Amino acid sequence: MGELPGIVVTGASGRMGQMLIRTVLESDKARLVGCLERPGHDWIGRDVGTAMGGAEVGVTVTDDALEAFARAQAVLDFTAPAATVEFAKLAAQARAVHVIGTTGLAPEDIEKIGKAAHHAPIVRAGNMSLGVNLLVRLTRQVATALDADFDIEIVEAHHRHKVDAPSGTALMLGAAAAEGRGVDLDTVSDRGRDGITGARERGHIGFSAVRGGDVVGEHEVIFYGAGERIALRHMATDRALFARGALKAALWAQDQAPGEYDMMDVLGL
Ligand code: NAP
Repeated sequence: MGELPGIVVTGASGRMGQMLIRTVLESDKARLVGCLERPGHDWIGRDVGTAMGGAEVGVTVTDDALEAFARAQAVLDFTAPAATVEFAKLAAQARAVHVIGTTGLAPEDIEKIGKAAHHAPIVRAGNMSLGVNLLVRLTRQVATALDADFDIEIVEAHHRHKVDAPSGTALMLGAAAAEGRGVDLDTVSDRGRDGITGARERGHIGFSAVRGGDVVGEHEVIFYGAGERIALRHMATDRALFARGALKAALWAQDQAPGEYDMMDVLGL
């Protein structure tokens, strides 16, 4: 039997970073070969196990991304847009699979990531859970079946530390609803209503973001009709869900040609 695929986790000290590290360490299908933090971070040079408050695991946190990626088959990256764009370039140079969970990417970031995908597989998804990806499919299906007599509203809730809104998942759901209706999301989305907004426009897709406490992630797509409404809802209760999805994506992508993929591809939905 060959060696297990080697995995590097970026943003090691982050909420998702630590969850990804634990998930890889617990897996019998992959091994942790590197952990990254930004230059100057106090975890640099320390064993990642002890930095996380546990036992030594034999992996030292580094800020040298290219050196770490060159030793890996895949990179799990849940950080911030500027870091992810840089990591995409370096993972492509190292010919390592890049799994991107980072949200809030701008169109120009996505374009740069697309260029990196010419050299190695990239799996990018605003949400790595099976349930949410299924919800995206269902949203498209319901939006196809119902016309604009039904007002579509997307409501999401997340913990108080989240920096972007609406969430990457809410935008995925909005894109699926728009696709089902055959419209362009950018021209019909209502984001951040406040003050005298005027009446709701027919055919628009509304977004609302709730922030507080330790909510891992909740998403609801509601189709409001006259005298009836349909609500599709997903609630994540454990971040490990996203980490397991990311690892699954990394293992799946080992056998894929360079290019851009999402969780629908990984899950075969
Ligand atoms: P977090 O706790 O703030 O962690 C972010 C990590 O990235 C930190 O360790 C941070 O280091 C590091 N980082 C940020 N900018 C960096 C840079 N320029 N260079 C190197 N490292 C950098 O955030 P989180 O809750 O883990 O979420 C991270 C991302 O994942 C967010 O975009 C979030 O929306 C997304 N997310 C996606 C999914 C999904 O399923 N796709 C699920 C959950 C979260 P410092 O502490 O030094 O800044």
